[in-house]
Amino acid sequence: MANIFTFPCGSCGRRYSVYYPKALLYELSGSGTREMGRAEDEEEDRSGAIETARRRAQASGNLWVNAAETQALVCACGKRLDLNIAHHPRVPQSKIVGKGRQTGFIQFPGKGGPGTPGRHE
Ligand SMILES: [Zn+2]
Repeated sequence: MANIFTFPCGSCGRRYSVYYPKALLYELSGSGTREMGRAEDEEEDRSGAIETARRRAQASGNLWVNAAETQALVCACGKRLDLNIAHHPRVPQSKIVGKGRQTGFIQFPGKGGPGTPGRHE
């Protein structure tokens, strides 16, 4: 299984699907060697799993990032996003998503303000 985490930008809400090759994860976590991870990465690449994940992420509007190539990502809005998995220790994806949902308060346009349209007498 390819390791892909989704990071929403806390500033503008753009979502990034970040692929962490096992060679990188093994080295960061110390659970294996870079060589072990690289063999698994090549296997996943050959099987097309990474390409499939990339297409799926982009189809849902996410921006695809390879963490092995990009450690410091600057969002299009100018916010710096930290992709170092070591700085996000074992955070379940659902928690990240839930956090993002709380931070943004979006008022839908064209609704005529917070009136009470459901009033009936
Ligand atoms: Zn942003």
